[in-house]
Amino acid sequence: MNNITIIGIGLIGSSLARAIRHNYSKVLINFIDVSEDNLKKSKSLSLADSYNTKINSDVEKSEFIFICTPISAYKNIFDDLSKLNLDQTIITDVGSSKVEVIKLANEFLKNKVFVPGHPIAGTEKSGPENGFKDLFKNKWFISNTCELCDETHIKKVNDIWKNLGSKIETMNSKDHDSIMAITSHIPHLIAYNIVGTASELEDDIKSEVIKFSASGFRDFTRIASSDPTMWRDIMLSNKTEIISLLEKFNSDLSKILDAIKNNDGKFLFEKFKKTKEIREKIIEAGLDKN
Ligand code: NAP
Repeated sequence: MNNITIIGIGLIGSSLARAIRHNYSKVLINFIDVSEDNLKKSKSLSLADSYNTKINSDVEKSEFIFICTPISAYKNIFDDLSKLNLDQTIITDVGSSKVEVIKLANEFLKNKVFVPGHPIAGTEKSGPENGFKDLFKNKWFISNTCELCDETHIKKVNDIWKNLGSKIETMNSKDHDSIMAITSHIPHLIAYNIVGTASELEDDIKSEVIKFSASGFRDFTRIASSDPTMWRDIMLSNKTEIISLLEKFNSDLSKILDAIKNNDGKFLFEKFKKTKEIREKIIEAGLDKN
């Protein structure tokens, strides 16, 4: 790999640049970001070889273009890329939802190669100063099948992430979005909601909430401090899966509410016992640590 472009150099884009630089020492890295501030920070950290605020024809020299912006920026980016000659280039991305991204790519990137991707790695922090080279090590990277790529293209992208230390899985975008809805998107929504509810309590009670926040609530506040632009985009771009799971979640919560109202201790005990078993399975599989 000799020449790549990364569009969007926040937490994920800058971590990718660090990891690629470490594993492919000769590669030329071209950064594109609308944020002059983030470009300046990246330059001071020497994360790339060239820095631009706009997509230009220099991008045509890249073997791979990694899109690492919030999903709401994709439409304009795909539109800009659609006007370039990218016959020798694979476009890929890291976005957290996939069905809608692929629909958009089908619309704008006809006759181009696009491999949808998603590293299951991240933190609640944003920006290039918070990225780090080992972010993707021992974490899953999921690529998706779609009309704009074949097995050879997918393998090329998978191989890069494998070299960065990721575990690889390829699946269709619908399965990806429904798995992510329950394992990541709904948990974030619950965190945003519970912290929101606490913050709307009267001011004097709120200070007590903060004072006595034990690890449960504290963990929710960490998750709920994640970037609002990114999570707004994820909720809206994976809305079909999220709505259907939230409806099921609400119905399950109503059953718990009824059990509490009716002093139905047996129901509550059985429910909590069953969920404890899921935690035990995660520990057994060695997945309880980062
Ligand atoms: P981030 O730290 O906020 O960085 C995004 C960068 O993209 C910012 O510098 C932003 O500039 C820039 N940008 C926005 N619109 C742009 C455009 N049209 N052209 C070029 N640059 C643009 O975000 P992140 O956490 O790295 O997330 C990026 C993507 O990774 C998202 O799609 C997210 O779904 C996915 N992802 C995130 C995580 C995670 O835990 N963070 C994990 C897996 C996947 P401004 O700051 O000026 O907007």
